[in-house]
Amino acid sequence: MSLVPMKDLLLKAEKEGYGVGAFSVADMEMILGAVKAAEELQLPMILQIAQVRLPYSPLDKIAPMMAAAARNASVPVAVHFDHGLDIEMIQKALDLGFTSVMIDASKLPIDENIRITKEVRKIVDRYGASVEAEVGQLGVSEDGSGDASKIHSDPKEVKLLYEETGVDAIALSIGNQHGFYKAAPVLNFDILDEANDLVPVPLVLHGGSGISDPDFRKCISRGITKINVATATFCAVKDAAAEYLKNEKTDYFSMSDAMMHGAYENIKRHMQVFSMK
Ligand SMILES: [Zn+2]
Repeated sequence: MSLVPMKDLLLKAEKEGYGVGAFSVADMEMILGAVKAAEELQLPMILQIAQVRLPYSPLDKIAPMMAAAARNASVPVAVHFDHGLDIEMIQKALDLGFTSVMIDASKLPIDENIRITKEVRKIVDRYGASVEAEVGQLGVSEDGSGDASKIHSDPKEVKLLYEETGVDAIALSIGNQHGFYKAAPVLNFDILDEANDLVPVPLVLHGGSGISDPDFRKCISRGITKINVATATFCAVKDAAAEYLKNEKTDYFSMSDAMMHGAYENIKRHMQVFSMK
């Protein structure tokens, strides 16, 4: 029984100086691969799915599978609803057993962002779950849609949002981006340092697919405790299937196993970096 609130994982990691990987999953192969990596490394993990992915992975089907995988894992696992866009879906995720939600109202002015985050906080508290909010904008959405213009987080707004809402984690925009990077990302560590000095809660780095290992470690040593990885896993699973299909004889179940292994390899690699060992 190790389905835990996200806050518990993050506070322990922050104290002990490592990062917790938050891995997006879309199907059973990815869930199995993620849990296999976490159990093998004996490290805590966050399994997550973003609201924009639900047309492909309906919440009422994938949520019970994610929660069961967490409950039966030999390591602590939080199940997180990533980039929640409306209160109805956030409530649904909590009803299905998620132990953490993100409310993404970052496109709105800070006052509106705070107002909506406060509302979500109230609901989430009834479930004993955790809340992540975002300050600043990453540009494109999880699924590649939306405006590519980025707005870096303003550390003063990070402080204001924390003081007004008491969220458990805050996602920053410091030059990180969803999807694969077209050019090597240049992270603004001054913003990270300033935000980390102003708020006591763990900070979150979205857009982990393509950030260098030294930058991951630098971020973790300066206040980032949760790191989201999605695209790199989706790509690893797709590539594993394509590689398998080059065989002369193929069958569905061996392909499924190859896909699980693709997710496992990618997630394990990231978890090893985030462990800071
Ligand atoms: Zn994100």
